[in-house]
Amino acid sequence: MSLLAKRAGRVDSSGIRRVFELARSMKDPINLSIGQPDFDVPDAVKAAAIGAIEQGQNSYTPTNGIIPLREQLIEDEKVFTGRDYSLDEMLITSGVSGGLFLSLLALVDDGDEVIIPDPYFVMYKHLVNLNGGKAVYLDTYDDGFSIDPDKLAALITPKTKILLLNSPGNPTGRVFNSDELRAIAAVCEKHNVFIITDEIYRAFAYKPMQSISEFTDNCLVLAGHSKSFGMTGWRLGYAVGPTEIIQAMATLQQYSFVCAPSVAQYAALACPQTDMTSKLSDYAVKRDLMFEALSGSFEVGSADGAFYLFVKAPEGYNGDSFVETAIENNVLIIPGSVFSERDSHFRVCYTVPNDKLLQGAEILCSLMR
Ligand code: PMP
Repeated sequence: MSLLAKRAGRVDSSGIRRVFELARSMKDPINLSIGQPDFDVPDAVKAAAIGAIEQGQNSYTPTNGIIPLREQLIEDEKVFTGRDYSLDEMLITSGVSGGLFLSLLALVDDGDEVIIPDPYFVMYKHLVNLNGGKAVYLDTYDDGFSIDPDKLAALITPKTKILLLNSPGNPTGRVFNSDELRAIAAVCEKHNVFIITDEIYRAFAYKPMQSISEFTDNCLVLAGHSKSFGMTGWRLGYAVGPTEIIQAMATLQQYSFVCAPSVAQYAALACPQTDMTSKLSDYAVKRDLMFEALSGSFEVGSADGAFYLFVKAPEGYNGDSFVETAIENNVLIIPGSVFSERDSHFRVCYTVPNDKLLQGAEILCSLMR
């Protein structure tokens, strides 16, 4: 008999593992699978981290995070959304992953239904399953990866508790506009469905982007520093929303993560002094470059944010078989089946230098049957 808890059997990483197995044979691949920006942490933030270590900021911090960082992020939220949060409504987490983990742990009971727009960030369904919830998928392919409010309403049952939203989206790059957000918020308010909104790619929006928190109180915002400041390994993010939920997450953090990494918290105080505009505008250029290079041959979803394109596999392939062929031709991409209940697409990350992007695109286009 296995020692493992049943819970451990509810998650698996076989899809993505299979891709990386295949990729092991590749020599110097054109790697369009990397879900993190190609820029490094800004110098001022590195210096602040080194300073924090040298000044002895190496101990546990308060569970909820250091007050100056919470205050700074509350100010950021005010600028971005116009909402004015109190300190009790702000929790510093170990990345957005930490925020997802704690929020679902705090909110999902056995049998609770969580609506996940499909395609989705791969972690969502596993965290819902881990907590005994049921992932209910809202297929968005026929709606240009938007959310049709009627289709959303039709999925809601007495057991529905949460909608997990992600804009800008991974893997689609989709940014919801204000009309879409307003409509989603209205459906959720009407049916008393709570929204968790993952806005980790906020900084990577190539058209005006808003948070659904501008349209409803009924939501928890998760955001963070991983992508915007190139610090994916530093494990820093935050959750902001209703006090009751934030405090429940804080209690769970106390007995799990304890606190977000102290050095990363102190270093992040230097983030507002760094100007990321040119780095981020490089990504708008990359998006245009890759969209143009691929859209002549492929059906590419509209992508106004993040650093992903979600592309339909051409005639004669499904997502998995196209990825296998791409890997045989030295281009590493991820099959859509990793992010979806469908196997019709693949994800391209444009997080590599422009010459590599173009080489990759040329090879992908040459694989049309
Ligand atoms: N949400 C989405 C949509 C992501 O793409 C990622 C990272 N790939 C995360 C959350 C996790 O981010 P973090 O590094 O802050 O834990």
